[in-house]
Amino acid sequence: MGDRKEKYLTFVEKLVNLTHSEPFDKESYVRLISDICLEYRIAKGDTEFYATLLMEKRGVGEAFCDYDNGKAAKVLAKVRIVSDTKAVVIGTLYCEDGDEERSPEEMDEIYTMLKIIIGFVSRKRLLRILESFGFMDSEGYRNLRALNRYLDVENTENGLGGKVAFHIDLHNFTMVNKDIGRQNGNIVLYRYYSKLQEVIGDTGIIIRLGGDKFVGICDRSVKRAVFDVFSGAVITYDDEKNKRIKVSAAAGVFMIPNPYMYNDPGDIMDKIMIASNIAKNNSGDSIVVFNEKIKESKNHIKRVQLDFRNALVEEEYAVYYQPKVDIDTKKVMGAEALCRWIKNNEVIPPISFIPILELNNDICDLDFYMLEHVCMHLRRWIDEGREVVRVSVNFSRKHLADIDFLPHIVSIVDKYNIPHEYIEVELTETTTDVLFSDLRRVVCGLQEIGIWTAVDDFGVGYSSLNLIKDIPWNVLKIDKSFVPKDTESEDSISNKMFKHVVALAKDIGINCVVEGVETVSQLDVLRRNGCNIAQGYFFDRPLPVEEFENRLDMKVYQ
Ligand code: C2E
Ligand code: MG
Ligand code: MG
Repeated sequence: MGDRKEKYLTFVEKLVNLTHSEPFDKESYVRLISDICLEYRIAKGDTEFYATLLMEKRGVGEAFCDYDNGKAAKVLAKVRIVSDTKAVVIGTLYCEDGDEERSPEEMDEIYTMLKIIIGFVSRKRLLRILESFGFMDSEGYRNLRALNRYLDVENTENGLGGKVAFHIDLHNFTMVNKDIGRQNGNIVLYRYYSKLQEVIGDTGIIIRLGGDKFVGICDRSVKRAVFDVFSGAVITYDDEKNKRIKVSAAAGVFMIPNPYMYNDPGDIMDKIMIASNIAKNNSGDSIVVFNEKIKESKNHIKRVQLDFRNALVEEEYAVYYQPKVDIDTKKVMGAEALCRWIKNNEVIPPISFIPILELNNDICDLDFYMLEHVCMHLRRWIDEGREVVRVSVNFSRKHLADIDFLPHIVSIVDKYNIPHEYIEVELTETTTDVLFSDLRRVVCGLQEIGIWTAVDDFGVGYSSLNLIKDIPWNVLKIDKSFVPKDTESEDSISNKMFKHVVALAKDIGINCVVEGVETVSQLDVLRRNGCNIAQGYFFDRPLPVEEFENRLDMKVYQ
């Protein structure tokens, strides 16, 4: 065996050992490469790495030079390998000018060693890529792991203090997808994210939580610019046709105090999520900054939810009745059952707990509780020989998807043997098509068994005329915000709309009840428009059961 052959075998052995050693001994590796190059009269050796075939085509990759004596003149050998994951590694060796011909044997040896080297480079680079995949989702957004790593690194004395943390949820992104198509929607999403990334620069991080929700941290110095993007950024999604769309977001923000260190990264997440939830449900302000008051409300929410079961068992929820009055005869024609929470002798209004119980399905149990108590009262009144009126009970739209909703109502009403026509179910309008068809099914079902139905709060939100065209309601309850104020002139838009809605309802044959009648002149508006049932403070506020019983017995308002 010749001298070179022996050296060659040693080189190979060392190469294999070094490229598989853990930890990697870079110094020895560089020395070995340089020994090999000297031995084989190689002037320069470099490697290129491309993560994908497409990136190779576009020339987007990384190049490393392992050895260079400055005299490289021509290519001596070149090897290109494509990994299973379609990453590309190219190794190129150069020799000096006038280099004498090499034997095929020598060239074989050179090629073998080059292959070992680029095999190693590809493994090493791929590991790095794989690592970066761990911090990216499949669509190229940084993910929650990246945020956790960032927080972990920055959670030092002066790392996070003074920065701005935020959670955002894009406005109407479902609609955007519908309008411009999913594919364009994805482009918009990525470009919006990139825009934020650009504004934040290296002062922080932005990651995608999923869907159209992102979390980020940035320096206060870029806060203004970041907030501007939240308020609205114009994003081009079709460069050729210059198609653009304005994207904005509901943001929950936490101004991290300085100094600041957390015990749990969830401390920051909790705050921005709470603020973001509020921002999302706010019709006005879309950027909500977390503060102690918000924390208070968070505690309140927890308390209401925790107390709920026990309060049901203890019957802390009371039925108050607000009379519905015929404005001509002044007779009590009906009543609405409204819930009050009596806790430690304090009367808590529904606005303080109903929206919270609607966050989960607790509201459904409360609604049936209310129905049951109304039935109990009606049963007693009937047994006492009182002249009773129809009572309406509010049901959350959360019930609509429940296919047992109807039988459940009937079972309670029948348990107390209440004639169906004394019960009215109030439901509000819905905004989605699916719920609309559920709403229709429920109302038709109730109609069939003789229980009355009312569409509540008509005129607020997005009441559509289909709501009264396609669903056979008994009663239309016109919301108080729709009733013209005393100060409004007779030909104000409010007055005109009120007039026409009442006329329309009458024409179709739906009964009208007007909510929130407070003054004589409002009563006049009703009278002028031939709408004769009013519910409001003008006659009575919602009353405890004993007081309402007096109204039942009184029969006519003076
Ligand atoms: P709603 O069903 O539209 O009830 C009418 C609301 O208007 C009641 O508020 C009533 O007190 C108020 N109101 C009546 N007359 C007047 C007036 O002349 N002026 C003004 N400014 N307000 C008047 P309340 O009792 O605070 O209830 C608020 C809402 O809470 C109800 O609105 C209903 O959506 C919900 N709610 C109450 N009880 C229940 C329940 O048992 N189940 C469900 N799901 N929701 C309930
Ligand atoms: Mg109601
Ligand atoms: Mg109402």
